[in-house]
Amino acid sequence: MKIVLASRNRKKIGELRTLLAESFPALEVLSLDDVGICGEIEENGNTFEENALIKARAAAASGYIGVGDDSGLTVDYLGGEPGIYSARYAAIKHFAGGHDDEANNRLVLKNLEGVPAERRGAAFVCAIGCVLPDGREFTVRGEVHGRILTEYHGNGGFGYDPLFFYEPYGKTLAEVTPAEKNAVSHRGKAIRAFAERLRAEYKD
Ligand code: IMP
Repeated sequence: MKIVLASRNRKKIGELRTLLAESFPALEVLSLDDVGICGEIEENGNTFEENALIKARAAAASGYIGVGDDSGLTVDYLGGEPGIYSARYAAIKHFAGGHDDEANNRLVLKNLEGVPAERRGAAFVCAIGCVLPDGREFTVRGEVHGRILTEYHGNGGFGYDPLFFYEPYGKTLAEVTPAEKNAVSHRGKAIRAFAERLRAEYKD
């Protein structure tokens, strides 16, 4: 059984392989490069799910199970921003290119200036889309809810983690171990939901 993940990020591919290995011991997780699919995939959906499926369809062109993911931060007070634009939030707002975690974090903080703790609710969201070789499609979603702090805490994780306070741990997601983050994170939840759904939908 082979899955093609619509990513060139070795870390993401390794993570999916590790997390699915338990449920699917005979599983091979391949990258777009491994199956000779080149070029950029245009992520022009309006939701995490649409973008995840756009990527999954591109990967499914290989003839194997195609999987794509999309994730980001949604801040309640900002009407769900940065949302699907999380990776390039500051760049888009300032009409410039690039992906800069520090600039993105600064912009979130600036947009929340003066907003009290109880109105700083936020969630990380991860959607995973899947296209099976017979053309059937499905998506799953994982979320983790927290609150945006007024300053950075911790050096772990990536992206918006140092600002994202997770109440049950009493820490930001940049202050916990990767295993602790995986246990509660949007991505961990989405991957576990994906494994369950795939087991139900796909009989090798
Ligand atoms: P992508 O789904 O890999 O494109 O991620 C989109 C963007 O969302 C990342 O560049 C980060 O800015 C943000 N993001 C997604 N997941 C996380 C997370 O676990 N921690 C912090 N930021 C995240």
